[in-house]
Amino acid sequence: MINSAEPSITTPLLLETLKHNFGYQSFRQGQEDIIKQLFTGRDSLVLMPTGGGKSMCYQLPAILLPGVTIVVSPLIALMKDQVDSLILQGISAAYINSSLSRDTITDIMQSLYQGKIKLLYIAPERLSNYYFIQELMQLNISLFAIDEAHCISQWGHDFRPAYTQLNSIKHNFPYTPVMALTATADVTTRRDILTQLELVNPYIHLDSFDRPNIRLTMAEKYNGEQQLLGYIKKRREECGIIYCNSRWQVEKISKYLGSSGINCAAYHAGMEVEIRNTVQDSFAKDNIQVVVATIAFGLGINKSNIRYVIHFEPPKTLESYYQEIGRAGRDGLAAEALFLYDPKDVQRIQKRISEGENEQRVNVELQRFQAMIGFFDAQTCRRQLVLNYFAEYTQARCGNCDICLDPPSLFDGSIEAQKVLSCVFRIQQQGDIEHVIDVLRGEKTLAVTQKQHDSVSTFGIGQEKTPGYWFSIVRQLIHLGYLQQDISQQSTLCLTEASRSVLKAQEPLMLAAPRLQKASYWKRDKPSQAYDRVLFAKLRSLRKDIADAEDIAPFIVFSDATLSELSRVKPLNSRAMLAISGIGDTKLARYGQPFLQLIQQYNSVNKR
Ligand code: ADP
Ligand code: ZN
Repeated sequence: MINSAEPSITTPLLLETLKHNFGYQSFRQGQEDIIKQLFTGRDSLVLMPTGGGKSMCYQLPAILLPGVTIVVSPLIALMKDQVDSLILQGISAAYINSSLSRDTITDIMQSLYQGKIKLLYIAPERLSNYYFIQELMQLNISLFAIDEAHCISQWGHDFRPAYTQLNSIKHNFPYTPVMALTATADVTTRRDILTQLELVNPYIHLDSFDRPNIRLTMAEKYNGEQQLLGYIKKRREECGIIYCNSRWQVEKISKYLGSSGINCAAYHAGMEVEIRNTVQDSFAKDNIQVVVATIAFGLGINKSNIRYVIHFEPPKTLESYYQEIGRAGRDGLAAEALFLYDPKDVQRIQKRISEGENEQRVNVELQRFQAMIGFFDAQTCRRQLVLNYFAEYTQARCGNCDICLDPPSLFDGSIEAQKVLSCVFRIQQQGDIEHVIDVLRGEKTLAVTQKQHDSVSTFGIGQEKTPGYWFSIVRQLIHLGYLQQDISQQSTLCLTEASRSVLKAQEPLMLAAPRLQKASYWKRDKPSQAYDRVLFAKLRSLRKDIADAEDIAPFIVFSDATLSELSRVKPLNSRAMLAISGIGDTKLARYGQPFLQLIQQYNSVNKR
């Protein structure tokens, strides 16, 4: 319960606590208002995108409130991380879940009775337990924070039945404020949370759902697995997730990448829970670079330094897409969401949805997928499209999506079209897209030599362009009706009536300039974010050693954002170090010395 006799909560006090415990200089959008509202004793609903800084909204108040804050969190596997991280920030926290022995739980209860714990993490199921509630009633509880509150909604895929029992909180603790937090924006979910938790006159904070640091990139998929490999190889030191739609695809890609020397693991619901937990844990600890996963890999990825999320196949809704890419760049540093687009995938999904039994459901799903298709087909800023879809209307172009960075343009593609069409003609319409492109590019593949297509006059006439370039051209020609794919004959390409006019060069043929292949290789850091990469790598490896020794995830020691600031500012004493974002007093005392030494050493070597 919040007592009106509390010392008044002033901005300087909040900022001091923010710096002392968390090492941050200022609040992010919304945080301060949410916290101040809480101190008036009011319930609240906090809607912020992933990485927006929701936890701060209850963790910081928990330090200043007289009693304990109970945090309801859906994933047992995550509680330890969260508690470890809080303890490193000098905040007394604990969790109670089924992984603990009875004795340990008794000890924790003891500390709770003595008022020694500020934050207690529990799973929702525990609040359905009569005896546990009785025990809680003996405590001085200042706040209930319901994390991932969207798990209450039956319509989402994170639905968790125990969440629907959480109205027990208001029934048993009518005077204690409840704060519900989620990154799911849709109106139905929001309504479900408000009504089911029985929140009283809640303060609602609806943040912008924009994640400007995540670059949105769509590239055409032509030889998907190799594209993935190329992408990952360019990012040796960076972690990422690859999303696929099916378990077998996950297995296939992870095998391919693994055999090509990439440190990766598969993750899907068909795997044993223990193995899944190990994968998640190793990923958090930077021991695995890439996780190839189905959407089962979701809730509970709180790793802040995921630098890219790749969609190998299209999600069924824009909501899922946005939630999945949101896992990248939680530390606020540049990250990328790469989408590998193949019209065949889209057709396949449309077909699968249409085959559903329930007509009404089929219609709804097709409609939602239509919005996803709109995203692929966008000719203007992709982020604008997504935000507008979430009813966050904006007229501004983002400047950080492939369309903004490299706007589509048309060119006279007559010669390119002629090359393709005459190639299809020369090989007597005996090849699919891949084959035709191999012939154009002069690749002596097995199929090409067997069919003696290396002796046709068009062999190698398109050598100077990449396969991706030709894919884009061929797909456009199909789209425009100058080529057809014969599905009954292994998708071989055939000429059409319309092909003739192009071959005869009767009029110029305007095509979209292929542009997407280079999209992801643009320079990534803004000048203001430039930092010393050599030093960063050294700091990163020191962080890994410390984390391993303490058996915690590296990002819990310091985030990538903190490391990059360290390698930019190069502080040479504790005071300068304290000014770095993410370094508070406890972390300084604990880790300051080794990092400081490394920076000093680095500096003196480089001066010489
Ligand atoms: P969410 O739960 O909304 O996904 P988190 O609470 O995990 O996001 O916060 C994301 C990151 O932002 C964390 O690394 C957190 O420490 C950091 N953060 C939160 N508040 C601030 C702030 N005021 N200034 C700087 N960083 C912050
Ligand atoms: Zn844009």
